[in-house]
Amino acid sequence: MKIIKMTARYVIGFKDGGHHIYENGELVYQGDRILFAGHGYEGPLDETQDMGNALIGPGFIDLDALSDLDSTVLAFDNQPGWKKGRLPASDWQRRETYSSDELDFNKRYAFTQLLLNGITTIAPITSILYREWAETADEFHRAADIAASLGVRAYLGPAYMSGYGVVNPDGSLDMRFDEQRGLKGLEEAVRFAEQLDQYGDTISGMLAPDRIEGCTPELLRQTADAMRTLDCPARLHSCQGQFELDMVHELHNGLSSVQLMAEYGLLDRRLLLPHLQYLGGKHSTPEKVQRDLALLGQAGVNAVICPIVAGRHSKFFHGVRQFQQAGINLSLGTDTFPPDMIQNMHMGTILSRVESNDITAASAADYYNMATLGGARALGRDDLGRLCAGAKADIMVFDFDSIYTGQNFDPITTMVLNGNGRDIKGVIINGEKVVWDRQLVKVNIDLQAMHHQAQQQFERFMTSYPERCYQHPPLQEIFPPSFPLSRP
Ligand SMILES: [Zn+2]
Repeated sequence: MKIIKMTARYVIGFKDGGHHIYENGELVYQGDRILFAGHGYEGPLDETQDMGNALIGPGFIDLDALSDLDSTVLAFDNQPGWKKGRLPASDWQRRETYSSDELDFNKRYAFTQLLLNGITTIAPITSILYREWAETADEFHRAADIAASLGVRAYLGPAYMSGYGVVNPDGSLDMRFDEQRGLKGLEEAVRFAEQLDQYGDTISGMLAPDRIEGCTPELLRQTADAMRTLDCPARLHSCQGQFELDMVHELHNGLSSVQLMAEYGLLDRRLLLPHLQYLGGKHSTPEKVQRDLALLGQAGVNAVICPIVAGRHSKFFHGVRQFQQAGINLSLGTDTFPPDMIQNMHMGTILSRVESNDITAASAADYYNMATLGGARALGRDDLGRLCAGAKADIMVFDFDSIYTGQNFDPITTMVLNGNGRDIKGVIINGEKVVWDRQLVKVNIDLQAMHHQAQQQFERFMTSYPERCYQHPPLQEIFPPSFPLSRP
């Protein structure tokens, strides 16, 4: 296998337990492994490539990686969500609203977008609002094929649930449960995870119970067991919104979501917890928040912070320092469109400062660490999220020569403040080039054609809202235009 050296104005290496900036640095890799990051490599070489005025860094790790055509954007200016199809009407007969080909297309499209944004490791998330029930193992075998063909490193598992929220005709909110169906979903997910070896090194298993209010105690308990038996990550959306707080409080004798996870053995270093915005349960107090933080920290769980989607919903978590002091590992997710990790780092820094009314509450480097080292730790991987000898050759190249990037005074801060995912010009995963000059190189995909198809598919998908939506209003009433709209 060829030994390849890349050079650039900045190489983000890894030294003494943290990232290290090498100006006019060198990165050497062979096959799927990094051999060297730093200055003055003197070993043998087969190829050298200079990336110029660029940053070579570890690929980003996205643990709530948007993997369908994003439906949450529809609710951005259309609220409350329960009136706008974010919860189905109780009289909706659940059905698949995408064909399986369309579901596959959504994943291929979304994985492609993630790669173009410099994201090299993903744990996919899709909405199951519009599904007959949840996700299936069949569809995830196809997802594994899609991920492997594109070259993205993926942690995969079909989402499962024992129940979901509905809106009653009188506008009250409720849950519908089918516990057996949830347990069957878990069984299928375990079998799926056990069958993944065939896909090679870049595809691994994950358990994905959908959201905590939709899991019965038995499903939580069996998920905890399976997570330990398979020794794989488990991801559970929790502490996310008011509906969840109300339902968990009502169904579980006043427990908070964190107490509920503790009760059934889920709190563990393998647990990935997207959002964690509402600690302390329904009747939260500062003491209850501290109690929940302590429970999470003692177990060494992983928070998956998703700044853009959180901020769009006027929420954010309780602060970088507070979580770190409690012993909670911090990682990042995109969770919405655009799946842009750089914009998420920027937004996260801003929201952390606003939330705590303190300009020192978080730095660009804090969020860069979350997108790289924090994600790797959450997955139990000390060979990802860093560039040093022995680590996986998962690499992204950020272009500082774009006229839109402004003045560079520090490569990390400048990238986070002035850059975005469109400035990523190269992505290498497991030693293989997957994106070069902003094009996919491992597979032949016409990105423009894909863009048009996604638009058509999304427009058709939108027409399924009236049947799901409370009181079934016409589409134009569910999602009115921002201003009065005329058509010729
Ligand atoms: Zn999420």
